Amino acid sequence: AKKQGRNRHFWFESSMENELRFRNQLESGIRRGLAQQEFVPYYEQQIDIDTGQLVGFEMLARWHSEQLGLVSPEIFIPIAEEMGLISQLSEQLMDRAFMDAREWDDDLTLAINISPVQLRDPWFAQRLLKRLIETNFPPRRLEIEITESCLHENIGLVRSMIISLRNQGVQVSLDDFGTGYSSLEQLRNLPFDRIKIDRSFVRELREPGTRSRLIDAIVALGRELELPLTAEGVESEEILTELRSMGQIKAQGYVYGKPESAQKVRERLATQGRL
Ligand code: C2E
Ligand code: CA
Ligand code: CA
Ligand code: CA
Repeated sequence: AKKQGRNRHFWFESSMENELRFRNQLESGIRRGLAQQEFVPYYEQQIDIDTGQLVGFEMLARWHSEQLGLVSPEIFIPIAEEMGLISQLSEQLMDRAFMDAREWDDDLTLAINISPVQLRDPWFAQRLLKRLIETNFPPRRLEIEITESCLHENIGLVRSMIISLRNQGVQVSLDDFGTGYSSLEQLRNLPFDRIKIDRSFVRELREPGTRSRLIDAIVALGRELELPLTAEGVESEEILTELRSMGQIKAQGYVYGKPESAQKVRERLATQGRL
């Protein structure tokens, strides 16, 4: 029994060690990846449900790590945030995305995700506008997505940031809506352009006829605040049909295909004559 105990102790130690080693590997990998530009934008189509028309893309970060293969943003974004490298990473991706999107048809929008950590920088809006100017990408084609967790931060700062971006023509949407704790009061006071319904709610539309009250409430809220809605994580035709009955909504999700590389997007747009 004593021996077993020692083994267990040993196993515990080594698994912690492994975790630490993995973490260190990730951190040095992220540094190297930034230097070698291993982070690349992928794009997910956004569709106007009523017309079926492609209206834009959401940029989603991907890491093609030499050591680790393809790494999910759910893993490297939080670590880059902790390492203080998220702004640098995001700006590298933005520059690429702006240059990609510049080649697309002029009426296609580009949405990018912004971390709450980036929003703590009082110069965030100025830095973003500088990137737009340097890459010659029109602000009116850009939409930034911020999550509800940003609203726990300095709300005054976030508010003035949203206002100065909107004054330049950039659109601002509230991502993952319903998963955080934003109040009606906050929503009314912050000048968002759009609300994105989190995919955990959208998924509940799977079984026809069993529409969740939560989704109905979110749609009603959008109407009340006169904010257009985007449903994310739409996986099936059944869900699309349910959404269609709710009126004017944008949709994105696997039903239209997985996020794809800039090259694949170009091929897609070329067949539609929208390059
Ligand atoms: P998000 O902004 O909520 O993005 C939607 C996520 O859902 C993406 O995962 C997308 O690939 C996935 N998705 C899209 N359609 C479907 C569907 O029909 N079903 C399911 N199950 N999933 C779907 P991804 O690309 O792994 O990104 C995860 C999260 O990482 C994003 O969630 C976003 O919060 C964050 N992220 C991605 N790129 C960036 C970035 O450049 N900057 C920052 N700050 N965060 C990013
Ligand atoms: Ca998003
Ligand atoms: Ca989202
Ligand atoms: Ca999400």
